[in-house]
Amino acid sequence: DHGLSEADPEVRAIINKEKERQFKSLELIASENFTSRAVMEAVGSCLTNKYSEGLPGKRYYGGNEYIDELEILCQMRALAAFHLDENKWGVNVQPLSGSPANFEVYTAILNPHDRIMGLDLPHGGHLSHGFMTAKRRVSGTSIYFESMPYRLDESTGLVDYDMLEKTATLFRPKLIICGASAYPRDFDYPRMRKIADAVGAFLMMDMAHISGLVAASVVADPFEYCDIVTTTTHKSLRGPRGGMIFFKKDPVLGVDLESAINNAVFPGLQGGPHNHTIGGLAVCLQHAQSPEFKAYQNQVVSNCRALARRLVELGYALVSGGSDNHLVLVDLRPLGIDGARVEKILDMASITLNKNSVPGDKSALVPGGIRIGSPAMTTRGFTEKEFTAIADFIHEGVQITIEAKGLASGSKVQEFLKFVSSPDFPLRDKVSN
Ligand code: PLP
Repeated sequence: DHGLSEADPEVRAIINKEKERQFKSLELIASENFTSRAVMEAVGSCLTNKYSEGLPGKRYYGGNEYIDELEILCQMRALAAFHLDENKWGVNVQPLSGSPANFEVYTAILNPHDRIMGLDLPHGGHLSHGFMTAKRRVSGTSIYFESMPYRLDESTGLVDYDMLEKTATLFRPKLIICGASAYPRDFDYPRMRKIADAVGAFLMMDMAHISGLVAASVVADPFEYCDIVTTTTHKSLRGPRGGMIFFKKDPVLGVDLESAINNAVFPGLQGGPHNHTIGGLAVCLQHAQSPEFKAYQNQVVSNCRALARRLVELGYALVSGGSDNHLVLVDLRPLGIDGARVEKILDMASITLNKNSVPGDKSALVPGGIRIGSPAMTTRGFTEKEFTAIADFIHEGVQITIEAKGLASGSKVQEFLKFVSSPDFPLRDKVSN
């Protein structure tokens, strides 16, 4: 039995290149992080070999003595990491990732074509919250359920709760979803709870982006107000790629969430759990209870504020004017450029972030903004000083993009990207320095 270098040098070489890319670049994608060696050791372990369909003590395969021990440990750590009373809350740690976790919740508590309301994707929501366009039901969630998104108030960049309340009163959804992929502020959970109660809807929070911040209590606690909380495990929480679903143990709206959700995960939508991921997740969730983890999450938020402050000083328009969490959303439209062009130029300078739509955008393909997150570089030890410098680097990239746009004047985004990628792009030296 050989190690990877001997068994498959081709794959080894690709992994080495990706590792180098990850460590050489400034990683500012808000949904990414660097997990620990301990987590990666568990993920790369023999746990991957085992089938264990079912739950601890109720498996469809033999040989699960240790897997049961591991999954129970992971569940207990998950409840402890989020300060939950095991008599009131339960958790399923088997979801393969964030999107499956969400679909499992919908499968558990809704009938096909029941109505849901989540934040619209162009306003910061996630695909799995029911995204659809005028022409197409894009997400499976909008194919199987009737989706009526709520939106931001474009003048403030905050969720338009008044409009959400009015729409919910007419649309009468069975489920309202809090949570986002690109929203720099906290949700107003008491207000969302009130709206859900008034129309008889379940209230779910998808805390994928901010679960590390929730565990460290540096943002508002969604568990106080929501019936169900889903999350990915690989973003601010800094674990392996995976998902979790937390549910209230007491019935809600006459539904036993525990059995409905557990059955929706398996046999509803999944087969065998990824035990190597559950192992890595258990490691991450123990760390999430440590003082160092709390200090890290505080630093994530401070770094993001330092970045926001400097960007505002440099004259940038931020959606909602700033940030309370780990990400900022920059509106580039006042500068006459878009997020796709800036993303490309910054990528050439090994600064990795992503284009993002901002409220009021006409095109999702050429969005007017960029999203910048602080979790990954905070893991690498960056503080406010380095994040202030990052704002200056981004500013330089934006200036170069404006200059390059002048040089490629009139070109569409695709032509622009081809132009800046060509060897004789005149600003190449400026970008790669
Ligand atoms: N929910 C939110 C809010 C997200 O931002 C994401 C991913 O970015 C997901 C769910 C989906 O997670 P996954 O990519 O693991 O399916």
